[in-house]
Amino acid sequence: MKTNFRNASLFLGALVLSTMLSCSNDEESTLDSQDEVLSVIDQQPSAKEGDCGYVDGNWSSTASLYTSLPNSGSTRNSSLITSQNSAIASFWGRSAPTFRFVRDLSNPTSTFNAISYSNGKIYFGEEIFKWAYNRDSSNLINVMILAHEYGHQLQYAYGLPSRNESTARSAELEADGFAGYYLRRGYGKSTFASIATAYNAAYAIGDYSTSSPGHHGTPPQRKSAVRLGFLFADPQNSKLSASNFDYYFFYYYNGVLNGTYRMAQPEGIAPEFHTFMMAHMEELRKIASGEMSDEDYINLR
Ligand SMILES: [Zn+2]
Repeated sequence: MKTNFRNASLFLGALVLSTMLSCSNDEESTLDSQDEVLSVIDQQPSAKEGDCGYVDGNWSSTASLYTSLPNSGSTRNSSLITSQNSAIASFWGRSAPTFRFVRDLSNPTSTFNAISYSNGKIYFGEEIFKWAYNRDSSNLINVMILAHEYGHQLQYAYGLPSRNESTARSAELEADGFAGYYLRRGYGKSTFASIATAYNAAYAIGDYSTSSPGHHGTPPQRKSAVRLGFLFADPQNSKLSASNFDYYFFYYYNGVLNGTYRMAQPEGIAPEFHTFMMAHMEELRKIASGEMSDEDYINLR
């Protein structure tokens, strides 16, 4: 992960400590790459439970876990995120993963990250929360980050994505799609503009796209993925399970990536749904190819 955080020292004088939790000591865990701000960690539970004061190897040695953040300054209304952790899981018919904030008062910028673990935990760094809050005090960007991370929990639970690539791209694009779907259908954002704005902010973080070429999908492909999730969530379509979402997602997304968007109706997808999607294929192709401007993207209905 590379961060370009500018306001590291803000608000530290006003912080009120929350209850610190005991935390497991997952030393020696084998971890995947950490070259993105919003990480997926395929981490199995450690047999060893240690003393508090050490989170795991993905965070600095001075970081600790908390159930809440102080309700002041740029950490205001963090309770929305903890309640959304349950709401997102419930929307997908599942019980909530363990959710914790990670704080590090001696090295705050080290918490500019959010991680979804394969053993049912989401850890959300204080600095990324603040960063997102300062761009949108409704916390929509934070909800979007969480919905993306929860998308990885769905992937762990159901063995998704069904499409495997040599990089993390298919998993990341699908998580973007899950987030777009939830924000419309579960969080009630009926217009695309607010979602597109939040998405552009969330994924403008850092410079990860240049460190691993092709690793996460190009920015236009990621925009197309979140738009695809939003379209699936149109109220005229029936609600999808996570597994159905995956099937639909890669059916239509393949078409967009390959430019073969005039597709036959696939098995298992309702005719009305397919007709609806076909009406948006040219639009999706323009997003994925980079032909569509940011302004036109944000103004999509
Ligand atoms: Zn991700």
